[in-house]
Amino acid sequence: MTHDRITPGSTHPNRPLPSSEVFVTADSVLMEHAPGIVQAAEDGITDVTSMMHSPIRVRIIGSRWADGEYGSTQWFTERAGITDPSGTHSGKLLYDVIHRDLASDPALQESPHVGYMLLGQDLTAIGPDGKPMNFIFGATDKEIGQSVQSIARFLEAGLDSAQLATVTRHIARHEFGHLIGLDGGSIRSQDSRGGIYQGHCVNTCTMRQVSSVPEAVDLAESLKDAPHAGFCDDCTSVIVAA
Ligand SMILES: [Zn+2]
Ligand SMILES: [Zn+2]
Repeated sequence: MTHDRITPGSTHPNRPLPSSEVFVTADSVLMEHAPGIVQAAEDGITDVTSMMHSPIRVRIIGSRWADGEYGSTQWFTERAGITDPSGTHSGKLLYDVIHRDLASDPALQESPHVGYMLLGQDLTAIGPDGKPMNFIFGATDKEIGQSVQSIARFLEAGLDSAQLATVTRHIARHEFGHLIGLDGGSIRSQDSRGGIYQGHCVNTCTMRQVSSVPEAVDLAESLKDAPHAGFCDDCTSVIVAA
C-alpha cells in the first residue's frame, strides 16, 4: 500500500513548472455530490502556490472541459477500468492507463499545464511483480506535471465531510509539493526507512509519508492549521524558492 508513487526522474528543486496554471479536474460524481471536497483540493494547492516565489493560478475545470477524446474525466476513467474475472480488482481504475493517456494528451503538448485529477473510484497500479497492487491513494509525475488522486478509501472509511475535506486538502498540499520538486533530491530531513518512505520528510510535515487511512487523517488534522500549510521549515524553504 502506498500513499503515492512518483515516477523517477531528474530532480531540480527550482525547475519551473510546465505552465503558470493548475487545472483541477474531478469525476462527475464528485463534482455533483461533493463539490466541497473538490474545492478542498483546490484550496490545498492554493495554500502552496501562495507561498511560492512565482505565483501560479489554480482553477477547477470540473469533469468535462472539451468534446471527445481527452475531454472529460470520464473519458480517462472509462479506459482505465479494470475487468477482472476473479473480481479482485473489478471496479478499480488502473493508474498506468490514466498516466499513459495524460502523457499523450495533445492539449498538454499544445499548452502545457499542471493537472490535478481527483477521483471517487478506487485506484490501483501495476506493482513490481507485474500485477495490480491492492490499491494506491494516488500518483504524481512531476515530469509531465500531472497528479491523479483517489479518495475512495477515505469515503469507505466513513469520514465525516469535515474530516474528508481536511484530508483531501492535506493530500493536495503534499502532492503539489511533489509537483514543484519536493522529493528525494530536495527534502533535507529525509525519512531513512526506504521503500514508500523514500523521498519524504521525517519531520511532522505535510511532506511526511503515511501508509494508512487513519495515519493520513491524524497527520492532516494535526497540520491543518499549522503555519506554512503544515510544511516544516526545510520544506518551506524549497517552496518559497519555486
Ligand atoms: Zn508523497
Ligand atoms: Zn518537511
